[in-house]
Amino acid sequence: MDDERREIPDGGLFARDGIVEQVGSTGELPADADVVLEMDGQIALPGFVNTHHHLDQTLTRALPGSQELNLFPWLEFHYPIWNRRTAEASRLCTLVGLAELAASGCTTVFDHTYTFPNDCRLDDQIAAAKEIGVRFHASRGSMSLGRSSGGLPPDDCVEDEAAILADSERVIDAYHDASAGSMTQVALAPCSPFSVTPELLRDTALLARARGVRLHTHLCETFDEERFTLERFGLRPVEWMETMGWLGDDVWFAHAVHVDDDEVRRFASTGAGVAHCPCSNMRLASGIAPVKQYLAAGVRVGLGVDGSASNDASNMLLEARQAMLLARLRIGLLPPEGPQTELSTSDPQRRHEWMTAREALEVATRGGASVLGRTDIGALAPGMCADFFSIDLNTVDYAGALNDPVAATVFCAPQPARFTVIDGRVVVEHGRVRTLDMAPVVEAHNRFSRELGGTRAAGA
Ligand SMILES: [Zn+2]
Repeated sequence: MDDERREIPDGGLFARDGIVEQVGSTGELPADADVVLEMDGQIALPGFVNTHHHLDQTLTRALPGSQELNLFPWLEFHYPIWNRRTAEASRLCTLVGLAELAASGCTTVFDHTYTFPNDCRLDDQIAAAKEIGVRFHASRGSMSLGRSSGGLPPDDCVEDEAAILADSERVIDAYHDASAGSMTQVALAPCSPFSVTPELLRDTALLARARGVRLHTHLCETFDEERFTLERFGLRPVEWMETMGWLGDDVWFAHAVHVDDDEVRRFASTGAGVAHCPCSNMRLASGIAPVKQYLAAGVRVGLGVDGSASNDASNMLLEARQAMLLARLRIGLLPPEGPQTELSTSDPQRRHEWMTAREALEVATRGGASVLGRTDIGALAPGMCADFFSIDLNTVDYAGALNDPVAATVFCAPQPARFTVIDGRVVVEHGRVRTLDMAPVVEAHNRFSRELGGTRAAGA
């Protein structure tokens, strides 16, 4: 994923202090180093960049009662459950989600947390990410528009706006590191048009721009959302956000499924980015985002696994595969992209609508880095962060697919990373996190999860 998109047989890389110094054939590299990873028979790829997640939702995966709901009722089902989260639960689910992501080749994670109930603070998640060693973009998210004011969340799940803004400033001061090689950044992320007030959207944008941090929210995820902004503000979601000062190259939106051609052009011309979340969009029956149309128009697109209550898997390699497959399903279901409305699926003029395996990998690496505003991750090249992962190709899973090992990683069933290296440090070995003993974490996490799920089942 360097600028020439080189693929190097018998290749390797040499890194020092977390920064790549050389990428090339093994014979060109230094013969020795403090740590040498032998990767015979493996493929090494740049680490994936996950651009949208809600790590807290690992506590509520596959919860009975939520499995066949689309977004609005699904949110209404979960809000009171997520509101019972504690700081310790927050730490545990951050570790669980990041461990799963790292094992799937992910080295940078953006997390969109928008409620801070009980003793929860963003500090707990940032500390957990440091514990495990994953490059972390945290968000001080928010909800301020309760049901009694016409919003979707219950009143006891929303916060006072002055407190949100004050805490946003606090965490930016305490944690945001904009330097090259940064392991921790902070974004501001009101949850959605139907859970925050216009005042908070505007004030958040002003604060983010004054402090040089990025802006994120959910947008154009469902027709329910579109109906909400049309009825309440008389505008479609993208127009509405534009009036709030929310279209720009420091903004990226999760999902962006339901957009028209003009809105795609507006994303491209303003530099607004998209976090494409194919598994979540399928799970919640939200729709199919026009990803190939975005790419053709020059919109910056990254990949997101989304929260674990709407995807249930925090697996970036799986997500890359789903992105490729879902883009292809779109060709079969929907008319051609562009002015023509009738062309068969096999028409050569529709070739450009096919997403390739390499495009899926590019969206998951370089695309995500661009969406997060980073020029030091997403590719393996001198000067870039030493973030990469490898997959062992000499297994039954890839047998027969080695005529194109790069494509095989996306076409074949996703397998855990043999190594995941982040900031030059081995975080995953043989598919398992080695920076932390995960067994007690999983046990304690499941205890919290049962408590939360059991509460719901008891009718609370
Ligand atoms: Zn989301």
